[in-house]
Amino acid sequence: MGIRENVQQLLKELPGGVELVVATKARTAEEVLQAVDSGIKIVGENYVQEAERIYPVVGNKAKWHMIGHLQKNKVKKAVRLFDMIETVDSVDIAREIDKRCAQIGKVMPVLVEINSGREKQKSGVLPENAEQLIKEISSLPNIKVMGLMTMGPRFGNPEDSRPYFITTRKIFDRIKALELPNIEMRYLSMGMTNSYPIALEEGANMVRIGTKIFGERT
Ligand SMILES: *Cc1c(COP(=O)(O)O)cnc(C)c1O
Repeated sequence: MGIRENVQQLLKELPGGVELVVATKARTAEEVLQAVDSGIKIVGENYVQEAERIYPVVGNKAKWHMIGHLQKNKVKKAVRLFDMIETVDSVDIAREIDKRCAQIGKVMPVLVEINSGREKQKSGVLPENAEQLIKEISSLPNIKVMGLMTMGPRFGNPEDSRPYFITTRKIFDRIKALELPNIEMRYLSMGMTNSYPIALEEGANMVRIGTKIFGERT
């Protein structure tokens, strides 16, 4: 099947209220444009540089989400390009986003990335530190925390991802119940090609999908 059919099938299959983010890494700008023209409303970028490559072709036909680890020296560019940054995992990066947004008069919606698998090489805040981080960054005037994101470890069997999604959902519910000022726990971004059906069962309302739309990365 082609990109158009894959997108349309996914959009039909996803329950109402679930946002579909297309993960664009290693795809051409034309492929991404095709996905957007088939009904995708959000593109997810792993790198600022890739977003700069695709933006001239896709432009404002979609919203732009940063879904990769954000380096401090890329924040200035990132706050101009992106409509949401899904990968905030430290006070340091949140402060930099806040500062750069203040300079251009923007309030950036952000998700806090949870390292639900406690993997050393992965970014994200550890589950037990999430609440403290969110409290600390909630007072920054030019960012707005709108939920959580997690990757979780990669498994052949998607069922193995379930505990990591549950961990993240529990943090989401707990922080939501605190009703902290300037925090709006609306989005729970989890699930990829392999694991999104499990993620949806565990409460995801934003899924990030690449392979199922474009085919295997080569
Ligand atoms: C690549 C990627 C995805 C999508 O992965 P697929 O398995 O191709 O669907 C989702 N989220 C992030 C952060 C990614 O880097």
